[in-house]
Amino acid sequence: MKAASEKKTIYVDNAATTAMSERAIKAATPYLREVYGNPSSLHSVGQIAKEALEDARARIAKRLNCEPREIYFTSGGSEADNQAIRSAAETGAKRGKKHIISTAFEHHAVLHTLKKLEGEGFEVTYLPVGPLGVVTAEQVASAIREDTALVTVMFANNEIGTVQPIAEIGEVCRAKKVPFHTDAVQAVGHVPVDVKAMNIDMLSLSGHKFHGPKGVGALYCRRGLPLATFIEGGAQERGRRGGTENLPWIVAMAEALDESCEAMQKTAEKEKKLCDRLIEGLSKIPHSKLNGDRVKRLPSIVNMCFEGIEGEGLLLLLDDEGVCASSGSACTSGSLDPSHVLLALGLPHEVAHGSLRLSLSEATTDKDVDVILAAVPKVVARLRDMSPVWEALEKGEKPHLI
Ligand SMILES: *Cc1c(COP(=O)(O)O)cnc(C)c1O
Repeated sequence: MKAASEKKTIYVDNAATTAMSERAIKAATPYLREVYGNPSSLHSVGQIAKEALEDARARIAKRLNCEPREIYFTSGGSEADNQAIRSAAETGAKRGKKHIISTAFEHHAVLHTLKKLEGEGFEVTYLPVGPLGVVTAEQVASAIREDTALVTVMFANNEIGTVQPIAEIGEVCRAKKVPFHTDAVQAVGHVPVDVKAMNIDMLSLSGHKFHGPKGVGALYCRRGLPLATFIEGGAQERGRRGGTENLPWIVAMAEALDESCEAMQKTAEKEKKLCDRLIEGLSKIPHSKLNGDRVKRLPSIVNMCFEGIEGEGLLLLLDDEGVCASSGSACTSGSLDPSHVLLALGLPHEVAHGSLRLSLSEATTDKDVDVILAAVPKVVARLRDMSPVWEALEKGEKPHLI
């Protein structure tokens, strides 16, 4: 590990992952020590574990407004997305329905599953998300066909933070009797989610996006809707997902969700104020642009583009200033393609390359925002000074795009 520098690290990459809360760590600890039983064992050690498992399930169900038996534990958001989509596709195919509706800016756990299904004979309609990154229920309604097996639309986008009209989409899907799945990984614990009121049939969540542990998540699947077995094995999770349950992390996830939900309103108000300051301050940088709708957004994510620079350079220099952020794009995976989310907004490649995502948590302070507001303009100016693209823009050899 790198030696810790004297400078305080400002972590504003909470959409990538969050720090586990003290409460979650504390909740997990007895299940790493004393309560080591297998919930499937019939003896008392196992039964104590089983009780804790079912208590966690009930607590998570309560937060989503569903029944405990509608919650299936998974290894995270990606697995929940895979299982939900695969299951609905399988059920649809049995009835001759091989059409799926989604959006162009889903998480790769959804998009890559859909791409695979396309290779298996399914047809997928990717709804355009428009320049503001929001789809409408009308778009969904007009895309639904006789052979539509599933609608899957994310609750909140992980790169730009826009929130979709989930309740309206749910209403449309329920009326047309088409199963509706939402990847709510960025929403659960951050904004109110009610699967009943919103007519959601399937929902994915992940522990590590709300200060729980990594490698644990859940899939909600409405009772009555068939759910295919994803991992063959024992009878765990009502036979839908074999494998001994990760009890310490499941208990910690339930605790983290309770904690996040208890503080939700207060956290959101605080984060929104800080994000408003960031948006106002960073918008003063010439040729910059906020990505995503100004209002229909999570309180905690700001995504901006700065013309004439590369996001990666920006991140590395910000890291030197003690600011851990993200470009919000796939660049980090070694590919130099700009983010599919930003391209879905219609941004030109050159602009999409210069993106910055700041995702806050309740731990972010006004002082942190001061530091970011001082660092980003400085770093952007420095990168532009070195950029041949910027030089061409400034000389008028190329037109500014933003
Ligand atoms: C993080 C994330 C996922 C993946 O969740 P994991 O638990 O890391 O597998 C899926 N969808 C969205 C929107 C996310 O932000």
